[in-house]
Amino acid sequence: MTYDDIRASVRKLCEGFPGEYWRKLDREMAYPSEFVRALTESGFLAALIPEEYGGVGLPLSGAAAILEEIQASGGNGASCHAQMYVMGTVLRHGSAVQKQKYLPGVACGKTRLQAFGVTEPTSGTDTTSIMTFARREGDHYVINGQKVWTSRAEHSDLMILLARTTLKEKAAKRTDGMSVFIVDMREARGNGLTIRPIRTMMNHATTEIFFDNLKVPAENLIGEEGKGFRYVLSGMNAERILIAAECVGDARWFIEKASTYAKSREVFGRPIGQNQGVQFPIAKSYANMRAADLMVKEALRKFEAGEDCGAEANMAKMLAADASFEAANVAIQTYGGFGFAEEYDIERKFRETRLYQVAPISTNLILSYLAEHVLGLPRSY
Ligand SMILES: Cc1cc2nc3c(=O)[nH]c(=O)nc-3n(C[C@H](O)[C@H](O)[C@H](O)COP(=O)(O)OP(=O)(O)OC[C@H]3O[C@@H](n4cnc5c(N)ncnc54)[C@H](O)[C@@H]3O)c2cc1C
Repeated sequence: MTYDDIRASVRKLCEGFPGEYWRKLDREMAYPSEFVRALTESGFLAALIPEEYGGVGLPLSGAAAILEEIQASGGNGASCHAQMYVMGTVLRHGSAVQKQKYLPGVACGKTRLQAFGVTEPTSGTDTTSIMTFARREGDHYVINGQKVWTSRAEHSDLMILLARTTLKEKAAKRTDGMSVFIVDMREARGNGLTIRPIRTMMNHATTEIFFDNLKVPAENLIGEEGKGFRYVLSGMNAERILIAAECVGDARWFIEKASTYAKSREVFGRPIGQNQGVQFPIAKSYANMRAADLMVKEALRKFEAGEDCGAEANMAKMLAADASFEAANVAIQTYGGFGFAEEYDIERKFRETRLYQVAPISTNLILSYLAEHVLGLPRSY
């Protein structure tokens, strides 16, 4: 399915949020509230929530089409893409009561569930070494620790939090002993939870979070205690595929900008795009974008067929992030000096798309995954 109608309506919505809108926010490091509101009202952010909870009930490819089109229109879906998929942990592993309690609010946008606290400053990519600890005390858990890069926390009501409930040394396996909680940040802020924004090279609303004896009701535990790592892993393929689709959208935007500019900019009495030194890099980045897009589609096909798509989701993320950054670099080169001027949006999108070489998983870790799990090479770490 190509979702032509959905793509057309996303593009139409994005026309109301042109470059000036994003540039102003970028300068002020401000959150795109109006854009997020418009996306929410249109139902796009509820794409993956089943209809019985008030969502649209689209398959993952529908959400991928929406996010790709936002990026291809010059916008930045990172401000709210997690509202689409973070709820997956509740949907797949939550109890009937939890689903009924949270999903309808997330579907209509009344409740924001777009913060996901996994990464910690000391453990980094080594998730099993997280230190944030949730200690059971009667009908509560008491949480202490720290998260970093918890994006959109200031613009979210709820957070999905991964914490240890058994120390790593005491767990049977290093992947055991972690649990997932749903934290109501509206109640928690000022009562054991502190959020501090981190300024970054692009406008991303990311934060660090401190837990100081934060009390969370035991009923907010998702699934079984100690199995949280598996629950979080099960959502990662979907996240990687969606981010890959965004990167394809970014690459399309850069390639379109570069081609249009190369046709109209005249130097030495002819369009710069007539020079093979200018047109070949654009053509190459187009070929790489198309190849990455095929891998995204293959990952989506396997995901939707219920097959194991770990390798394809990882490869899609890596190839699409490479394609978008290559296209970003080509666009800057094609624009020459003007590529660095704010008013063309190239430098802003260049900064934004650079992130995906590192987050939500860095390229090295994808290569390690392929080496170990697909090619059978020895584990390198
Ligand atoms: C803007 C932004 C938003 C983010 N949003 C979120 C969020 O909402 N929630 C969340 O939980 N996290 C979030 N993250 C965290 C992100 O997932 C991590 O930054 C990423 O997984 C890398 O972890 P790290 O920064 O700790 O790097 P480290 O683990 O310290 O790694 C540093 C470098 O070393 C490399 N490296 C490490 N180990 C190996 C190895 N064994 N072999 C080869 N190379 C290795 C890595 O590839 C990387 O290049 C965000 C990050 C950023 C920058």
